[in-house]
Amino acid sequence: MNILYVEDEKYLARAVAQVLRKENYQVDLAHDGQAGLDLALAGLYDIIILDIMLPILDGISVLKRLREAGVSSPIILLTARGEIDERIAGLDDGADDYLTKPFHSAELLAHIRALARRRGQLFTDDTITFGDIELNYTGLELRGSDHSFHLTLKETQLLELLMINQGQTIPTARIIEKLWGWDSPVEDSNVQVQVAFVRKKLALLSQQVRIRTIRGVGYVLELNQES
Ligand code: CA
Repeated sequence: MNILYVEDEKYLARAVAQVLRKENYQVDLAHDGQAGLDLALAGLYDIIILDIMLPILDGISVLKRLREAGVSSPIILLTARGEIDERIAGLDDGADDYLTKPFHSAELLAHIRALARRRGQLFTDDTITFGDIELNYTGLELRGSDHSFHLTLKETQLLELLMINQGQTIPTARIIEKLWGWDSPVEDSNVQVQVAFVRKKLALLSQQVRIRTIRGVGYVLELNQES
């Protein structure tokens, strides 16, 4: 499970990261709001832990921009005592949980586990399930009820993005950003090619799951209503 922790108090950030890594979580750290936002937009995180008081860009602004960009990773806000207004604003803006500083590491771990349980299907090992398919995104393997296929890294990244945001339209630009990075010269046709590869495998493995093209916008993963 990948966790992003955005925290400007570097000593605290390192200490918490150490605790999380001991629990076998992968942890990326950012020390200001802008760096955190950039990482969150570029990577796929299962959970984002976001301090509110941050240099350059505050946590609430980071949260808003992430939700506007369609990033749906669960977010735990870290608030200082007395920041009640910020906390309420944060929950209104799409935070999933909050924790008041100072916190005990056991408390943070409990919140992470609770959030993981709530998001159920996303957090069983390294697999995501949707309908009758299961993607192992570290093993690059897509399983159906009878067969399985090995996927390329790009196919895996594409399907992972669609599965995490199942039912939501993912803009083509966001897919390019995730698969090739910010300023790559990749065009929409490259995405179409990857989508075609994944569709071919889905058609062979799944009775239910399909990628629908939203013309001029992007793609959405959904369950085939007729099946
Ligand atoms: Ca802070």
